[in-house]
Amino acid sequence: MFIPDYAKELLTVLEDNGFEGFIVGGCVRDALLGRKPDDYDIAVSATPEETKMCFSAFRTISTGEKHGTVTVVNKGKNLELTSFRVDGEYKDNRRPENVEFTRSIEADLARRDFTINAIAFNEKRGLVDIFGGQKDLENKIIRCVRDADTRFNEDALRIMRAVRFASQLGFGIEKHTADSIHKNKALLENISVERIFVELKKLLTGKNATDILIQYRDVFETVLPELKKLTQEKYLENAKAVSKASDEITAFAAMLVSLPRENAEEICSRLKTDKHFRNTVSVLTEYVYEDFNDRLSAVHFIKNHSVETAEMLISLKDCFSLDTRVIKNTVSEITNGAVYTLSQLDINGNDLSLLGVRGKEISEKLNMLLDKVILGEVTNSKEELKKLL
Ligand code: ATP
Ligand code: MG
Repeated sequence: MFIPDYAKELLTVLEDNGFEGFIVGGCVRDALLGRKPDDYDIAVSATPEETKMCFSAFRTISTGEKHGTVTVVNKGKNLELTSFRVDGEYKDNRRPENVEFTRSIEADLARRDFTINAIAFNEKRGLVDIFGGQKDLENKIIRCVRDADTRFNEDALRIMRAVRFASQLGFGIEKHTADSIHKNKALLENISVERIFVELKKLLTGKNATDILIQYRDVFETVLPELKKLTQEKYLENAKAVSKASDEITAFAAMLVSLPRENAEEICSRLKTDKHFRNTVSVLTEYVYEDFNDRLSAVHFIKNHSVETAEMLISLKDCFSLDTRVIKNTVSEITNGAVYTLSQLDINGNDLSLLGVRGKEISEKLNMLLDKVILGEVTNSKEELKKLL
């Protein structure tokens, strides 16, 4: 298996000091799938203190030392080195009370979530795969390491991770694991919304999102109870649209289409999304069925929101195979310089006040002139515009 030099060098340093180091988890899984891993996590037999001693010649950052993680900087890359550990007792279905370090890679693999994430590799020992992860990768299966009920009770976030990996990788979920997900979904109430939202975004942009949304509707309704309001037919339509979305905001909006606008806003506030995410989702869900059959309404939408939001609306409409001709043409005219804002108008408030217009009538008149220019009823020149006053 290929290991980039910046990671391999660290494994060699560990070995030279009498310790063992392995690349482990997501990077091994992705490499076995023939994908280029995003980052390399390293599991080490050394304790955090020992790790820091091994790397005294390197820059190290004590990131999560309590959980056994030391970050080592090599060739401009940050690598997380985490001591082999076994998790202590879990409280409230998330995070263990304490962790204990161990010298056994096998014990460390046993605390990991899924068999495909519980494979370690180094050149000396080759692949360490005691839970059948390679076989499950070949058969495209997500399966808990050891007993699913126990593992989901220890940390309920694993329920979201299971469906997220199934969506991203296009894998099925093994029967015991799947049954246990349905059975234990209520435990998700103990998990922080921020962590759930991270998984949800990855899931909705995964290649198999539609199937997972359909098969695990009960799980999504635990996280987003508002979805219960959708008929089965509408839920299916939304789930199909999600897979056609090109970004996470559009995918999220697709799932919420037909819920009242307040619901979209409440859901985003509850999940603590940022303001841009919340505002965009609520505008998209509100306007997805707007047909913009006159150009003026399309221009008003762009003026009140933005070209970017209009482009996202087009892409959401496309996910539902809705007509987008007017709004698409309008966006392209505007990006090619067509007048759509007051600041582009050849006449301004000052000009109007010199002509004797006062107070809020100024903005009313300016907007009236702007609409006429947009509709092509008058050319955008001060002389022509004055004639209409
Ligand atoms: P991604 O490619 O999305 O980063 P990943 O598998 O690398 O996927 P991480 O969250 O980066 O996911 O976690 C790294 C590894 O740590 C996992 O592969 C898994 O072995 C282990 N792990 C992460 N979260 C959990 C958890 N909640 N329970 C048990 N093991 C976990
Ligand atoms: Mg990772």
